[in-house]
Amino acid sequence: MVVFEIIVLGANGGPSEYGTQSFILRPVRAESPALIAVDGGAGMHQLREMLAQKWNDNEDYDELVPSFYEHDREPIEFFVNSKLSIQRGLSRSLLQSLKRHGEHFEDANTTNKAYKLFQGITDYYITHPHFDHISGMVINSPSIYEQENTKKKTIWGLPHTVDALQRHVFNDLMWPDLTAERSEKLKLSYLNSKEVHKCTIFPWDVVPFKVHHGIGVKTGAPVYSTFYIFRDRETKDCLVVCGDVEQDHAGLEESLLEDFWSYVAENIPLLHLKGILVECSCPLSFKPEQLYGHLSPTCLINELSNLNTLYNSSKGLSGLNVIVTHVKTAPAKRDPRLTILEELRFLAQERNLGDLRISIALEGHTLFL
Ligand SMILES: [Zn+2]
Ligand SMILES: [Zn+2]
Repeated sequence: MVVFEIIVLGANGGPSEYGTQSFILRPVRAESPALIAVDGGAGMHQLREMLAQKWNDNEDYDELVPSFYEHDREPIEFFVNSKLSIQRGLSRSLLQSLKRHGEHFEDANTTNKAYKLFQGITDYYITHPHFDHISGMVINSPSIYEQENTKKKTIWGLPHTVDALQRHVFNDLMWPDLTAERSEKLKLSYLNSKEVHKCTIFPWDVVPFKVHHGIGVKTGAPVYSTFYIFRDRETKDCLVVCGDVEQDHAGLEESLLEDFWSYVAENIPLLHLKGILVECSCPLSFKPEQLYGHLSPTCLINELSNLNTLYNSSKGLSGLNVIVTHVKTAPAKRDPRLTILEELRFLAQERNLGDLRISIALEGHTLFL
């Protein structure tokens, strides 16, 4: 059964500034146009683009997606597993719920529609405060004061995220401190690692996990990020959405990733693990010292092999959807996303991980898992 609808606003890991990591989640076929976001690297502009797209019931996938390497556009099937349920733009279910809940929605222009849609995002779950994960959210934030907007927004995160956003972003220097407004329309709220938090608008549990993400250039101090598990309380199905991450290694004090996979294998039956959205920033040609707190295909397959060992299923991880995000743009002959996808598929086969369904997250598309 399909449970999660994932709108990919941004899946880019920089240095190109367009469409950096940002996902919107909702239960499939939800009645209301309520939404939550995981990371906010992109926002309103992408929503406008998606609303402006013509929706076609019989869209078959001879669709071309932007690439800008061998060709400026490449066929979508180069990027996604054939069994992945994906469509360009927004789902019919979401558009219908917007029509039901918004007067004159259908007659509104695309920008007014985008504001309506954006109002529905009441909660942001941020993985870490790097610009490529927050820029859209920050720049979009004044729109909560639009007259028609009656909804509030809460930005959730582990202490390393919330403290940095308060101290270094919403501080009246980098950006107005909208959290200090008397209307309290924008709020920052703490989550605790490994503690179950009840999502305020969906019947979902959210469990955040602190993970490592390299070290500071000047300080050498550890940098942290977050993995989120979203669990539907009715169906028990789960979705894992990862922030930037580095593998556990000898120099680190805690084995945060090992703890994470153990939690997953102990608490989520493999059949209920609907998908993992995870970064794989750099291709195999990058040396370990060039990763700067990110994963390469070898690292990601090592992590998935660890999960496979913990599940100990005779079929490996067959049927599991792994959606790769945050691939870095770099001068190259071939689209690095296609290089990484090929490397991941090769390594997964070599390590006998079963019929793993690996795809690239594509901006401007909706996935159903
Ligand atoms: Zn990033
Ligand atoms: Zn980062």
